[in-house]
Amino acid sequence: MQFIVGNWKMNGTRASACDLARGVALGPHPAGVALALAPPFPFLEAVSGELFKHRGKTGPQIAPAAQDCSPEKEGAFTGDVAAEMLASLGASHVIVGHSERRAKHEETDEVVARKLRAVLRAGLTAIVCVGEVLAERDSGRHEEVVARQVRACLAGQDEKTLERVVLAYEPVWAIGTGRVATPEQAGSMHRRVRETVAEAVSRARAASCVILYGGSVKPDNMAALAATPGIDGALVGGASLDARQFLAIAENASKGEARRPS
Ligand code: PEP
Repeated sequence: MQFIVGNWKMNGTRASACDLARGVALGPHPAGVALALAPPFPFLEAVSGELFKHRGKTGPQIAPAAQDCSPEKEGAFTGDVAAEMLASLGASHVIVGHSERRAKHEETDEVVARKLRAVLRAGLTAIVCVGEVLAERDSGRHEEVVARQVRACLAGQDEKTLERVVLAYEPVWAIGTGRVATPEQAGSMHRRVRETVAEAVSRARAASCVILYGGSVKPDNMAALAATPGIDGALVGGASLDARQFLAIAENASKGEARRPS
């Protein structure tokens, strides 16, 4: 099973978000691929409604997702949005720790871990992003950095609750740059991430943990990524802003997975 998540970032209008959601909801949808869409906060309810309207008619249920949340439950946090509020708008998933938030909003591993706890407390599924910057890869520290990020968010979490955690390995040098990690690079980092989950939590949790790849995923590079053991889907930025491209990525994820050595 592949899981393909569209991260629309801060793009579009309410009308264009609804059009895009409808385009994705109408399909076609390949078998064996689950989908989620993360619109900007203000469009979440409208997008969720659009996806709900088409639910069950043409294909899979498409999960409405949020791009971030507050680590807090409520209170004097002007401008912040609590995970419980997102749940009330129909979201089932929340992205936390995206590299744009780590870099541009100075979110530390500790803040990401608190946000993850907030998502789990609200009964939602978290999509936790980890990944190294180019200087860390060039200096050979990419495995160490990513393992630290994974450990920091999983530490102290209850194993059962961690069933609601999806990890996304997103090398920062590949995000929005058109430079995709090779299937070998991504496959090797996914193995490292899985080993870290095994060390930090358990082998069983590591074996069933969904780990996505993110960074310049397009229809023409998805199949090779999905054919790589350990890559369970993709977090897609730019290409998710076009329904046809997003659906083509889902189609190629299905074809790629079918090509995996058994
Ligand atoms: C992302 O924002 O998570 C992402 C992977 O973006 P892009 O696909 O545009 O590189």
